[in-house]
Amino acid sequence: TTEAKRTHKITLIPGDGIGPEVSGAVVKILETAGAATGVSFDWHTYDAGADAFAKTGEYIPKALYESIEQNKVALKGPVTTPIGGGFASINVTLRKKFDLYSNFRPIKNLPGLKTNYPGVDLIIVRENTEDLYAGLELMIVPGVAQSLKIITEKGSTRISKFAFEYARKFGRKKIHAIHKANIMKVTDGLFLDCARKVAAGFPEVTYAEHIVDNTCMQLVMNPYQYDVILTENLYGDILSDLCSAFVGGLGLVPGANLGLDCAIFEAVHGSAPDIAGKDMANPTALLQSAILMLRHIDEAETADLVQKALEAVYTEGKTLTKDVGGTSGTKAFADAVVAAL
Ligand code: ATP
Ligand code: MG
Repeated sequence: TTEAKRTHKITLIPGDGIGPEVSGAVVKILETAGAATGVSFDWHTYDAGADAFAKTGEYIPKALYESIEQNKVALKGPVTTPIGGGFASINVTLRKKFDLYSNFRPIKNLPGLKTNYPGVDLIIVRENTEDLYAGLELMIVPGVAQSLKIITEKGSTRISKFAFEYARKFGRKKIHAIHKANIMKVTDGLFLDCARKVAAGFPEVTYAEHIVDNTCMQLVMNPYQYDVILTENLYGDILSDLCSAFVGGLGLVPGANLGLDCAIFEAVHGSAPDIAGKDMANPTALLQSAILMLRHIDEAETADLVQKALEAVYTEGKTLTKDVGGTSGTKAFADAVVAAL
């Protein structure tokens, strides 16, 4: 192209487990695509979690916070959250620190990849800063533990507005608020009140409410009845993994954590320690997160180019990773996408 080269400063957190492998693949693909469209990336790379603690004595180094503050955009691989004790989730801490209240997760089949549910196209909008994920827990007396479920009018209203404004802008027809307000009458009741109030301002978008346990059954029976799912933090976490199965599993589904000021793009999956370091991980989920990032920074041409190359590799079906029925490794898959570019 004749246009001047544009450079984007992006904070890169490779993560741990399969993180370095999938982010290495994604960086290579983005560099290649950018070279073709006149876009370059200035990656500011940081460790987080146990790796960062070993090197700097901090789980989230100050320099990483500052980098995200300055660049406003980060691409993030998974960072392991220890089960039970240990440190608080790095993923949750970053989302709260930058007030990234919308977690946007599109669930859409890739062409050429057969699943039991062809043609799914739904979006999960997950509240990202409160609920049981606030991590406000304590042992009241030995043998009795408590976790505080925090739901606020502010948090519920802004996530509802995000979902409805998205639906309006992109022509989505229907929003289901997913809840358990029959049992959690006060917290989920407040969430629904806020969603209803916001819904009233968007008469062109159909609004409905489903209880979360029924939703699990409904999704497995007929996911096509859903368009946009609007939900709280914990239900959104669980429904995301469930919905990933429609499109081929956790190796596929991307995510964007969006706030008013900053955005962090990361896959739905975690660090998958069982397959880490084995050249087995599917980088598609992080790559599709990177495509969302490219659209966010107004690089639609590069986003389209990467999307087309990714779709070409799936349509050909010869260089896929094990999780989606192929026999290729992470690197070979990334090379196939690069070749398709
Ligand atoms: P978290 O608590 O961080 O959400 P999780 O317990 O949900 O983590 P994941 O790390 O997301 O677990 O992975 C669950 C399983 O899914 C892994 O053990 C792995 O087999 C598979 N998996 C996840 N991501 C990928 C990927 N990118 N490619 C291939 N398989 C994957
Ligand atoms: Mg998970």
